[in-house]
Amino acid sequence: MKKIQMVDLQGQYSKIKTDVHKAIDSVLETSSYINGPLVHEFQADLEKYLQVKHVIPCANGTDALQIAMMALGLEQGDEVITVDFTFAATVEVIALLKLTPVLVDVEKDTFNINIEALKKSITPKTKAIVPVHLFGQVANMDAVMEIAKTHNLFVIEDNAQAIGANYTFKDGRKQKAGTIGNVGTTSFFPSKNLGCYGDGGAIFTNDDDLAHTIRGIVNHGMYTRYYHDVVGVNSRLDSIQAGVLKTKLPHLDTYCNARRNAARFYNNAFANNPHIITPTAKSNATNNCNEICDVCDCHVFHQYTLQITNGKRDELHKHLLANNIPNAIYYPVPLHTQKAYKDTRYNESDFPVTNTLIKTVISLPMHTELDTEQLTYITETVNNFIN
Ligand SMILES: *Cc1c(COP(=O)(O)O)cnc(C)c1O
Repeated sequence: MKKIQMVDLQGQYSKIKTDVHKAIDSVLETSSYINGPLVHEFQADLEKYLQVKHVIPCANGTDALQIAMMALGLEQGDEVITVDFTFAATVEVIALLKLTPVLVDVEKDTFNINIEALKKSITPKTKAIVPVHLFGQVANMDAVMEIAKTHNLFVIEDNAQAIGANYTFKDGRKQKAGTIGNVGTTSFFPSKNLGCYGDGGAIFTNDDDLAHTIRGIVNHGMYTRYYHDVVGVNSRLDSIQAGVLKTKLPHLDTYCNARRNAARFYNNAFANNPHIITPTAKSNATNNCNEICDVCDCHVFHQYTLQITNGKRDELHKHLLANNIPNAIYYPVPLHTQKAYKDTRYNESDFPVTNTLIKTVISLPMHTELDTEQLTYITETVNNFIN
């Protein structure tokens, strides 16, 4: 059996090696390291894939969030609602811009923003909502968009984990994750579903004016060379990374399918285990499909995350490591209890779900190269221990 890895970047690379080297060589041969033709080509390819008017590449997913918030003109003291259960980057940029982060609980079955908690957290100071499409599954965007419309709020989708996922609205309309709100952001960190070989990120929007503002902000606030109209940042996707991404983008749907196939194998293997809750692939309010289907492709499984309900999560973590099965706890500490983000506005009783999830979740190996032998070994090891 091949050695099991949490993410197998090497195996994926070996299959596209020739094309990747061609792209990187073309950058080396022309020395167009910054803003080269591949950056523009990748941008255009991604716009087409996502069916969004504007993709603005930038240096990483954290910058993408920060730049999106800067472009929306949010001001000190404005409240921005996001989830308690996510990677810290989401809340970090809110705090960094001196906006006020307001963390809310998530839903137990999807790990995504809890709509009732979101509604309760809205005040006259609320200006924006940042739903995170956690672990590759799109949040309930029917509800988020409706609430945003009612209260006149911006929606910034943190799509670092769900690029390629589709969301099906109540009326049957389908849209790619990250293109639904006013603005969406993503990360091309190597282990993300569309990863480059360094750092990278992008911002998506269908709003022409907002796209123009963002293009200036990523480039020192310049709209005309050496005229700085606003305070900006320096945040670029370099040409080599763009070459890698342009090469990988045509494979993204295949990668998503490979992840879903692995998830389906896992879900079937754990279906009858009474102590394990498997992830659902519930894409939206209407279509409660608990199957992992390729039809709605609503979940792209950035992570495959179980909930262990018999109190043995930590033991399972150690047992799997001892059996050469990498695994991880995403996320072990709720953001509202982190030193940097504590706030007297929070009560523990506001976070029943995250406070439980931190004790029950465990993520198993998930990537595009898992084979049946490995999946069988992983699922048997888990089922033999949790019974
Ligand atoms: C990875 C990630 C980010 C940050 O992306 P970087 O490219 O590492 O800056 C932001 N939000 C979420 C949910 C992420 O998973």
